[in-house]
Amino acid sequence: MCGIFGIIGEEPIAEFILQGLQLLQHRGQDGTGIFTYNPTTCNKTLYKDRGSINQVFSSNDFQIPIAPWGIGHLRYSTVGEGGAEDIQPHVIQKGDLSIGIVHNGNIVNYLPLKNQLTLRQIPLKTTCDTEVILHMFASKIPSEGVTFNDICEAVLEICNQVQGSYSILVMITGVGVIAFRDPWGFRPLLFGKSQDQKSFVFTSETGPISYVDMGSMMNVEPGEVVFIDNQLNMHRRLIMKKTHTHCSFEFNYFAKPNAVIENKEVYRVRSKLGIALAHRIKKSNLEIDVIIPIPSTGMPSALALGHALNIPVEEGYLKHNFVGRTFIMPTQKSRKKAISEKFAHVNSVFQNRNVLLVDDSIVRGNVSRHAVQLARMAGASKVYFASTYPPVRYPCFYGIDFPRQEELVAWGKTDEEISRALEADGVIYNSVEDLKNAIGMDDLCTACLTGQYPTKIEGVHEMQCLRHRNQNNMELTCKS
Ligand code: SF4
Repeated sequence: MCGIFGIIGEEPIAEFILQGLQLLQHRGQDGTGIFTYNPTTCNKTLYKDRGSINQVFSSNDFQIPIAPWGIGHLRYSTVGEGGAEDIQPHVIQKGDLSIGIVHNGNIVNYLPLKNQLTLRQIPLKTTCDTEVILHMFASKIPSEGVTFNDICEAVLEICNQVQGSYSILVMITGVGVIAFRDPWGFRPLLFGKSQDQKSFVFTSETGPISYVDMGSMMNVEPGEVVFIDNQLNMHRRLIMKKTHTHCSFEFNYFAKPNAVIENKEVYRVRSKLGIALAHRIKKSNLEIDVIIPIPSTGMPSALALGHALNIPVEEGYLKHNFVGRTFIMPTQKSRKKAISEKFAHVNSVFQNRNVLLVDDSIVRGNVSRHAVQLARMAGASKVYFASTYPPVRYPCFYGIDFPRQEELVAWGKTDEEISRALEADGVIYNSVEDLKNAIGMDDLCTACLTGQYPTKIEGVHEMQCLRHRNQNNMELTCKS
């Protein structure tokens, strides 16, 4: 999972890319980069480094380029060895053209595709799946006189060969900016024209729209290409259609509450998930004195749940804002360290009360177990744990970093066993049906809940091993 943002217009607007990325920071914090182009001067700039947007762009040697075109990326690493070379955008040269790419998603058959490129003696400089897509794309693009048909042929080749999730922006210097999305539509990607009609914007989420004075935004549809050419003409074509399987975890955890995905406001979805939990808790006859959200994604659901049950909702945990999103940290070690620094708690909210903690999900169980321990330390009588997302029992191969089944606390366990693993007095989960009803869509990916994968998953075993090895390497690097 990553954040991508792009602009093409008439006036220098590169600073908007930084503002847009800032509002997508929750989607990735491992690396940040931008690739910009000025068609008047033919100047291009590639600037990227490890870290969040503030860390990367506060450097004295960075100056905002004067450029009306650009694409940017926030990295959340699920593939690759974590080196600086894996940070996007990736850019290659084709004749006089520079072709840059940013990608949100994950390629399931990355290793076979990488091997094919190696056999064709195409040199790969990174361990990142995005570079494979870039070479596949560039191989179909002529070095001059690029047409929309050429672009569609290149995307068709990718749709035919690549299994997995990919919402992508490509910028070709002098030619334009291209957006396309895999035919399953796992990850969001939107675009629209600014109010003054002078620029087009592409973004992973609707959040940054307010910054760039946008009119209405549209989805890049699953399997569709949108191309804005150097005269700011828009071209659209549906390349391939499959059953839409939008990632359900985007609604539940990943996106900002004010985001609108597939015309559904994320905040409302999370409220409905809280109401669905209320029905379950009513049936269970648990005696609960207070509902306590785990900050901050659990808040909309906890508020709706408290309202439906007429039980007070109180802030028992205070989040230290300087700690990033622990779930998207690259290693178990870094996650555990950050979790222990993440919360402070308010004793009086817990003391001698039966408390219901509410979170968006229970994945590895690190945050949940820590929250339960803090509740007990503060003197809670009983500690129940509610998750708005059903039990995550299967790996995700589409860009969310829970690729190894043995890392998942719910894998192979009953609710009672999960409860014991979290040291709680009980766990309550929504069902897959509750999730679909709350989102209001049937065409969702729920593979991490059901084990039913919408794509072929050949080659994932090798990917799991690679990821595991890389994580261990990163752990060792941290120790030294
Ligand atoms: Fe999203 Fe789960 Fe599907 Fe991954 S497996 S894309 S997290 S719903």
